[in-house]
Parts: sequence; structure tokens; C-alpha cells
Amino acid sequence: MKEYHIIDCHWHPAIDARTDTGWFGPVGSIRKQIETLRRAGISQACGAPIEKIEKPASFRKIRLLNDKAFALRDKHPDFYIPGIHIHPKFPDESCCEIERCCGGEGVRWIGELVGRWMDYGDDFATKNALQIFRTAIEYDAVVNFHCGDLKVIGKLCATLPELKLVLAHPSSNRMEFLERIKIVSKFKNLHLDISGAGIDRFGILRKAIDMAGTDKILFGTDYPINNPAVYTHGAKLEDLSEKERKLLFGGNFLRLTK
Ligand SMILES: [Zn+2]
Repeated sequence: MKEYHIIDCHWHPAIDARTDTGWFGPVGSIRKQIETLRRAGISQACGAPIEKIEKPASFRKIRLLNDKAFALRDKHPDFYIPGIHIHPKFPDESCCEIERCCGGEGVRWIGELVGRWMDYGDDFATKNALQIFRTAIEYDAVVNFHCGDLKVIGKLCATLPELKLVLAHPSSNRMEFLERIKIVSKFKNLHLDISGAGIDRFGILRKAIDMAGTDKILFGTDYPINNPAVYTHGAKLEDLSEKERKLLFGGNFLRLTK
């Protein structure tokens, strides 16, 4: 199969035991994870390390995750593109964190944000979240988020049309997928990453691009929860044009993050 420069926009690097999301035991060192992604055909990967944080009393643990991302970027600058966290429970701290990370450190990617892991559920369109995302607009940062509530997604897209959004996961449920891709096609600022469930449904990428457009779909895996080779091979096998494949594999990511 042809080789491409593939950028995975949805990696959760397992930096230590707390950030290891693998289902079946430790996934191994960062070196081993990068080697696994490379063996799957991936040239670069982006995303935030993630851990379960219950009822955070302060922003400290969230900032610590972002610092872990920067340490990893400094060690593997050719491979890893950092993603950072914010937290709607701490709007002022989150805005300052965006200034620190996107201003000072030059970060372009916020997420993947998983509210159900960090005790904020689907709070992506609340007053606090909107305050935080207005700061993201100032720094032209992209927000990658996990959300199953179409009303929340619609409210967020409509309220902040300048915010660059990437919804995670198509879904392998036919009706759910069609609803999600429909909302991606409806809002100009909303995109979809193909990580998680869905790639095993043959033709899903063709359908997604037909409905939402070539500029809307980004390559992602959710490794180490998922096997990254499933996504590279699945995407290569789909009936896409060269142009569509290049945009999916990295073109759209690079355009959004500049
Ligand atoms: Zn994820």
C-alpha cells in the first residue's frame, strides 16, 4: 500500500501509569508507543495525555497534565504535537492556561477534551466553557472534544462560529453516525476526527466526506485505547481520491493548526 505522511490528531500518550489508557495492561514506554504508531504507518501524533480526575479542588492536576505534554514534546519534537487541557470548573485558570500554553508555548491544539473523565460531563456550551473557548479563539487554537449531546454541539457551534472545533468519533451505530455527520456538515466551524468506533463500517469515510466535505474529516486513532493500524489500513482501503486521502491524513490538520 502507498505510504503517506499521516498525522494522528487523537493520541493520548501514556506518560506514566496515571495517563495510561490501554485496556489490557501497561502499553509500555513512550519510545515503544511511538514505535507502535510508526509501525502502523503514522509519522506524527497530536493530543493530550489524559487521566481520570474526580472532583478536582484546584486547577493543579490539569496544569500538571499540560506540563507532562510539554516535557514529551521537548523529548520527541519530531513526532509529538502537544494537546492541552482546560476545565470548565476553573474558567479564569483555564483562560490563563490557554495564554500560557498557546501564547508562550505555541500550542495549537486543545484536547481531546473528555469531560466525563474529568468531572465536567458534556459541559462544552456552559457560560464557563464559552468564556474559555473565547480565549481559544483569540489564540486561534483548535478544540478537539468528546461529546454525545447534539444539542450541546449545536449550541457551541452556533454561539462561537469563529471557534475551530473537531468533534471526536464518528460512532459505529448507523443512525448515530448519520446524525453526527449531519451536524458536522451543518456548521462551517465543526469537523470530525475518525478515532474511536466507526472505521470498521465499510464506506463510512466515503459517506462522511460526501456529506460533510473533503475539508471536514481528520485522521485520528485514540491509541492506546485502539489499535492504530486499524485506522491507517481502514482509511487506505476506502474508496477515496488521492486529494481526499491527503487531506484526511494530514492536510486538514495542518490547515486548521497552520
Ligand atoms: Zn480519546
